[in-house]
Amino acid sequence: MTATARKGGDVQPGGMKAATHILETVFGYKQFRSHQAAIIETLIEGRDAFVLMPTGGGKSLCYQIPALVREGTGLVVSPLIALMQDQVSALQQLGVRAAFLNSTLDRREQDAIEWQLTTGRLDLLYIAPERLLQERTLDLIGRSRIALFAIDEAHCVSQWGHDFRPEYRQLRVLPERFPHVPRVALTATADERTRAEIIGELRLENARQFIASFDRPNIRYRIAQLDGKVARERLWRFISTEHPADAGIVYCLSRRGAEETAEWLTAQGRQALPYHAGLPADVRRATQERFLTEERLIVVATIAFGMGIDKPDVRFVAHLNLPKTIEAYYQETGRAGRDGEPANAWMAYSVHDIVQLRDWIEKSDGSEFFRKVQRQKLDALIGLCEMVTCRRQALLGYFGEDLPEPCGNCDNCIAPPLMVDQTIAAQKALSAVYRTGEQFGVGYLTDVLLGNPDPRIQNNGHDRLSVFGIGNELDASGWRRLFRQLIIGGQLAVDADGHGSLMLTEKARPLLRGEEKFFVRHSPKNVDYEVRRRPRKVVTVAPEDELLYRELKILRSQLAEAASVAPYVICHDRTLVELAEKRPATLDDLWGISGLGQVKIERYGAAFLEVIAQFSRK
Ligand code: ADP
Ligand code: ZN
Repeated sequence: MTATARKGGDVQPGGMKAATHILETVFGYKQFRSHQAAIIETLIEGRDAFVLMPTGGGKSLCYQIPALVREGTGLVVSPLIALMQDQVSALQQLGVRAAFLNSTLDRREQDAIEWQLTTGRLDLLYIAPERLLQERTLDLIGRSRIALFAIDEAHCVSQWGHDFRPEYRQLRVLPERFPHVPRVALTATADERTRAEIIGELRLENARQFIASFDRPNIRYRIAQLDGKVARERLWRFISTEHPADAGIVYCLSRRGAEETAEWLTAQGRQALPYHAGLPADVRRATQERFLTEERLIVVATIAFGMGIDKPDVRFVAHLNLPKTIEAYYQETGRAGRDGEPANAWMAYSVHDIVQLRDWIEKSDGSEFFRKVQRQKLDALIGLCEMVTCRRQALLGYFGEDLPEPCGNCDNCIAPPLMVDQTIAAQKALSAVYRTGEQFGVGYLTDVLLGNPDPRIQNNGHDRLSVFGIGNELDASGWRRLFRQLIIGGQLAVDADGHGSLMLTEKARPLLRGEEKFFVRHSPKNVDYEVRRRPRKVVTVAPEDELLYRELKILRSQLAEAASVAPYVICHDRTLVELAEKRPATLDDLWGISGLGQVKIERYGAAFLEVIAQFSRK
C-alpha cells in the first residue's frame, strides 16, 4: 500500500480525520453513509460495537477503515471461505494489505501469512472461526498486534437461524483472552431474538449498538398474482424490456422449476443457468463463479442460491413462485442493488403456490407450535401480496419500522390497483375481535361472523353476541383474506405466543370510528398488472453519454480479465456513469469521481482517460 494512504499517512493518526482521509484516498468515496462515521469512531476509540444494517448498507467499511487507522492488523471472522477470497482481492485492488487464512491454502502459504501477521505486515486478515479458535492461532494472535476483531455475519451464533455455526459461540473467548482489543459484530438479520442472542453469546453487553434503517429505497417492489404460463411470459417481458443486459436472479420453488425456467430463458435468447441443491458441488461452484464475474448472466435458482452472493450489481431479483415468509422475501430481494443503484424486485405467485406451501407446512416434521408459526408467517406474506397500499410501508412495518409516508417506488404506489371498499366488513371483523375478548384466531372469528353454531362458540356464549352471524356478505375465504389485510395493514396484531389470537391496535380505532375507509384489491388475480409506464432505465446515463459509457464498460471488462477479478472489483457502474458524464481529462480530475481512490487512479486512471480522450476526438 502506498505511503500516503496507509494508516492515514501523515495525517494525525487515531482520529476521524485519518478515517475520512482513508475513505477518500483508498476507497475513493466522498462521504460516510449513515452510522458509518459513528461506528468507525467507536472502534478507533477502542470500544466495542454491534452493527445491524441491511445488506448493501456498507458494513465492511465499518471495520476496514478502523483497521487501517489503528495500529496492527484487523482480524475479520467470516463464515464463508468463498467470500473471503472475493473480499481480499477487492481490498488488494485498493492497495490494502489484506490476506485470508483458511483450509484452501497450503502449508507454505499459511506460514507466509502467519509471518506477515506477527511482523505487522497486514492491514486485514480474514479468517474462518474454526481456524481462529485453534490454540495455535490464538497463540499467534497473542504474539501479534491486533487492531480489532470484526465478527461478520454475526447471526451465525443464533441457534434458531438456518446459518447456525456452533464455533461462532466460542468466539466469546476473544474478550477473555484479548480484553484490550475492540470488537465489532455485524449482521443484517433484523429480528429481536437474534439480536439479543448475538449480544449475549458474544458478550457484547457493553457494546454501542447501531441499528440502521432496513429500508432499501433503491429497490422497487412489484407483486402480482399470475398463473404459470402467464407468469413466465410476463417474466420474459420484464427481463427483456427492463433488464436486457443485466445480471439477475430468478427464484423458483422447485428444482424442476429452476431447470425448466433456465432452459426456457436460454431458448428466448438469454444466458441462464440453473442452481439448486441437486446439482453437483463443482457445477454449483462454477455457476456461482460465472455469476460473480460475468455482467449479464441470469441464475435461476431455488433458495439454495443464497448466502455468499456478494455481487453488488445484481439489477433484479424475480420470484416465479411465492417465497416462504416475508423474512425470506426480504432477504432474497435484498440481493438486488447492493451498490445502491436502482434495482427491481419482481414477483409472480399463484394460488397453486399457496396450496403447495401450506401442504409442506402440514407435512413438516416440526411441532404443532412450529407449524402454527409457519402458517402465520405464510399468511403474513400472502397479506403483503394482496394488499393495495404501499408495500414498503408494510414490509418495514413487519420488521417494526415505521415509514411515515408511502414510498412512491412500489407497484401499489406507482399504479394503484383497482379496489373495492370493504369498510363495513372490516368494521365487523374488528368488532368480532373486540367482542370475543381478543383471544381468538382467524378461523374462530370467521365462524362467529358466519354464524357457525360450533360447540366451542356456544360454550363461550359467543353465539349470543351481536356480531354472531352478521357477516354473510363474504364467504370463509373472503373473511380470511380480509383478516390478512387487517393484519398486514397493522389494524390487527397477532399475539406473540404463537396461538394466533388477534388483537386490536391503535390503527384500528379510526376505522372502527368510521373516520377511515378500508379497501381491498378488486380481484386478487391481477390480470393487467404491468406498471404501464415507460420502464425506468436501471442505471441512468444521459443519452449523449451512453456510447462512451458502453466503451468504458468494455474497458472495464478487459481490465478485469487482465487482473483476474470480477468487473465490479475494478469499479462499480456508478463510477463509469460519472466518468462518462464528467469526462475528466487529467489524473487530477479523477479524484472527483466516486469509487476511484489513489491506487485505482494509479493503476487504471490512464486507461480510463485514454478511452475518454479518444471518444471526445471522434
Ligand atoms: P454490506 O456488507 O452491508 O452488505 P458492503 O459493505 O458490501 O455492504 O457495501 C455495499 C456497497 O456500498 C459496496 O459496494 C461499498 O463499496 C459501497 N459503499 C459503502 N460505503 C460507502 C460510502 N460511504 N460511499 C459510497 N459507497 C459506499
Ligand atoms: Zn410504496
